[in-house]
Amino acid sequence: MPARTIPVDDFDLILFGATGDLAKRKIIPSLFRRFVAGQAPESAQLIGAARSDLSDDEFRKLVREALEEFVPAGLREKGQVDAFAANCAYVAIDAKGDGGWKELCKKVRPGVIHAFYFSVGPALFRDLATRLKANGLTEGEARLVVEKPFGHDLASAKELNDHLAESFREDQIYRIDHFLGKETVQNLMAIRFANVLFEPLWNERYVDHVQITVAEELGVEGRGGYYDKSGAMRDMVQNHLMQLLCLTAMEPPTRFEPDMLRDEKLKVIRALDPVEPEHVVRGQYKAGPDGASYREDAEAPDSTTESFVAMKVGISNWRWAHTPFYLRTGKRMAKRHSEIVIQFKDAPHSIFERDNGARPNALVIRLQPDEGIDLAVTVKEPGPGGMRLTTAPLDMTFADALGEDAMPDAYERLIMDVIRGNQTLFMRGDEVEAAWKWTDPIIDAWEGQRPHQYAQGSSGPEEAMMLVHADGRRWRDLGDGE
Ligand code: NAP
Repeated sequence: MPARTIPVDDFDLILFGATGDLAKRKIIPSLFRRFVAGQAPESAQLIGAARSDLSDDEFRKLVREALEEFVPAGLREKGQVDAFAANCAYVAIDAKGDGGWKELCKKVRPGVIHAFYFSVGPALFRDLATRLKANGLTEGEARLVVEKPFGHDLASAKELNDHLAESFREDQIYRIDHFLGKETVQNLMAIRFANVLFEPLWNERYVDHVQITVAEELGVEGRGGYYDKSGAMRDMVQNHLMQLLCLTAMEPPTRFEPDMLRDEKLKVIRALDPVEPEHVVRGQYKAGPDGASYREDAEAPDSTTESFVAMKVGISNWRWAHTPFYLRTGKRMAKRHSEIVIQFKDAPHSIFERDNGARPNALVIRLQPDEGIDLAVTVKEPGPGGMRLTTAPLDMTFADALGEDAMPDAYERLIMDVIRGNQTLFMRGDEVEAAWKWTDPIIDAWEGQRPHQYAQGSSGPEEAMMLVHADGRRWRDLGDGE
């Protein structure tokens, strides 16, 4: 079933940080795939910008190499790569200097959408935004895309928002959280709000608890310098897990429109209870047969930064008053696995024998790998052996239904949304600030504390298991037998 594509209007995407890792690995390949799919017009232009002194041709070479490395061979024909590269150009610009801007002004085409993508560190956002404005580039159909991290705490996020607001209106700013571009995450909204089956059950009366897991197999992989200043709470919980929690917990918006959806997410963040210290577990991976310790990886011998965090979160509103949300994320865990689990309660009364094998229903929304949705239902075990029950999954793996290659990368969807001017899947400034306001006191309370150690390839520290066991519950198995 080929995905339906609705072409977008003509645009120039001006990519600051075009020689960087994210540009090569995600942004350029995603744009190319939308070009091949016929969604980006043939005339759409990619203008790279960074300090490196490259000619247009040298940048086209970099683009070709990025496509070779990050787009499967079967998805790029030479003619398509040639046509895409022909529409690429480059300008050498140092965000801190005034050189190159006149050349950029000459290269952008009047009368088309201009999307400025800041794939650079946030310390450069203000310099770039101010110079874009000074050169008259923020007028008309101009949009700004910014990458995480969006602040380090509430104060820095506010400052960043204020700096961007000097040059761009809020309705021009697209703060990317690539989790929101995932098919399954959008499907969570379709499941909830386009079916009658789930929404009546989506509350504390029927949902026992919710688990949100984002487990990574990798460690800090050369990003230790950045990561050690951040940690799992800032790098993952404040943004990605928070967004997943909001979409799971929010009330139905009146319409699927950017501000209506974002208003509902903001209400969830504001309803989050402050987290008790005993409801948070921090961990740091130790050295094991498969690799060095976190401290060695991060080259920070005394580091107290967490590479794992698990927490129990309460939401004070009518829908979720007694339903805990358990969140966990970490590096060097048993496997790369991200999911949201809606664990329903037991049936109120069983007509079958005790110990019959029945399990409560669970709706599992898998984000990676194998994006898909799985509903665990209790059925009769086949055969003549009496009324034995078993759990069977109603499984919808999107790659099976759509074809592996048809699964768009989150960035493809998000970049096209920017061009369309649709902010629904992007974080609003007040949402980001509210998330930091909730996160800051949790982080502040850790001052001087050392995280628990955990084995590589595990589900995190023992204390994280105890956090849910204390409530008579278990984390879903990550494959390490925990
Ligand atoms: P990177 O590989 O270090 O690339 C940084 C880019 O910025 C390079 O193109 C660099 O090119 C350019 N740059 C640096 N200083 C500049 C200046 N003064 N003026 C103009 N350009 C400058 O970083 P990255 O991994 O691509 O990450 C980019 C941003 O995305 C960061 O904010 C990062 O936190 C965020 N992010 C990255 C990832 C990821 O997976 N990589 C994921 C999520 C978010 P020159 O040296 O040629 O100037």
